[in-house]
Amino acid sequence: MTRATVAPAPEAPAAARAPRALQAVRGMNDVLPDEAGLWEQVEDAVRGVFRQYGYRNLRVPLVEPTALFVRGIGEYTDVVEKEMYTFEDRLNGDSLTLRPEATAGIVRAAIEHNLTYERPQRVWTAGPMFRHERPQKGRYRQFHQFDVEALGFAGPDVDAEQMLMLARLWKALGVAEGITLSINSIGDAPERVAHRARLIEHFERHAAILDDDAKRRLHTNPLRILDSKNPALQEMVAAAPRLLDLLGASSRAHFDGVQRLLSDHGVAFRIEARLVRGLDYYNRTVFEFVTDRLGAQGTVAGGGRYDGLFEQLGGKPTPACGFALGVERLILLLQESGSVARAAPLAYIVHSGDAASALAGRAAESLRDAGHAAVLNAGGGSFKSQMKRADVSGARFAVLIGDDEAAAGTATVKPLRGGGEQFTVPVAELATALSASPPSPI
Ligand code: ATP
Ligand code: MG
Repeated sequence: MTRATVAPAPEAPAAARAPRALQAVRGMNDVLPDEAGLWEQVEDAVRGVFRQYGYRNLRVPLVEPTALFVRGIGEYTDVVEKEMYTFEDRLNGDSLTLRPEATAGIVRAAIEHNLTYERPQRVWTAGPMFRHERPQKGRYRQFHQFDVEALGFAGPDVDAEQMLMLARLWKALGVAEGITLSINSIGDAPERVAHRARLIEHFERHAAILDDDAKRRLHTNPLRILDSKNPALQEMVAAAPRLLDLLGASSRAHFDGVQRLLSDHGVAFRIEARLVRGLDYYNRTVFEFVTDRLGAQGTVAGGGRYDGLFEQLGGKPTPACGFALGVERLILLLQESGSVARAAPLAYIVHSGDAASALAGRAAESLRDAGHAAVLNAGGGSFKSQMKRADVSGARFAVLIGDDEAAAGTATVKPLRGGGEQFTVPVAELATALSASPPSPI
């Protein structure tokens, strides 16, 4: 007797087995070409302003030893307690972390390469940072920062310089209207120790209303309670003793110096005695540029002085000051403010027929030789559909090359925006003819 065997299910037809399309990790965004043009413009503007102030690029890895951030940022901060992407190196078991911010890595690099041995250094870096936060408008899990650090400078002049530099950037980008500057001094170590004791006393008197976060931080990081966003704590926070009232003479003089320099240069600011920042390494000057146009995620750039960080990371005492600028928030602000310019090519080259295509290719290269952006139609298409693509590209001119033009070695230029009459020129003179035309208003 033969036993019935269950035949294996036939292979599913190919279409049914088509793999499901994968999606990006939540909170980690693609920047598609339509929007990336704006990113490039912002990046160019930022790099240009940094260069004007003598800041030079420095590049550090995206992955660092976890201990760097625990020691640098502080064990009892939001970032270290709950936001880091930490994993074990499969080969040797080392604990590694995707950088949640750039300062610790830059200071590590400066110590490792003895960067400030001969002279202080102004540096900047840029790129993605990673924090496991709840994604929402202006808050993502992979986001981008420009990060600026002045290493080895003790005076209030570099603090003010960095704020001036940002104020200049807002103007250059046309968003100065929507952004205000808040500054504070959180003093030096002894002042912070004295303040801490007074804060703990104050919070203990209000122990009944403290939330879990606040209770946990009461003896580890009471300063962070001041940064609480819990509405129920706001009144108690407002009544807490202020570090600003406990500053010693040299912290006071430093803070006065920052204010004087800002005033000298006409940069408006507000002293915000409650301003503390989320990372532990700051001392003395802290500052934030804030907008009210992005809802709760209003801080576009923030920073301050961190005179103790080098020592904390095993280096020599080195005073320093820096800030980070959130690129996504700046892009959102530009979009909200409508001050968005689009980068477009000077010309889009429409062609049909073999002889015309060869000439069109040479015409495109001659425009690029002259430093212009020229897009050569690819993939064929009717005259009408090519003209549509030319228009969508935002080009100032369509350059048309058909059989007649190919035979005569000419191109017909049709202005698409910015006005002007249609004309025909020898291809050899095309670049000169288009260079003479006023640039299109973008
Ligand atoms: P927030 O209070 O908004 O959480 P933060 O104090 O954590 O900001 P910093 O660590 O000082 O921010 O980083 C500097 C800048 O980087 C912020 O002002 C902001 O523009 C940007 N930024 C910080 N976290 C995020 C994020 N998760 N998504 C997008 N941008 C961010
Ligand atoms: Mg944060």
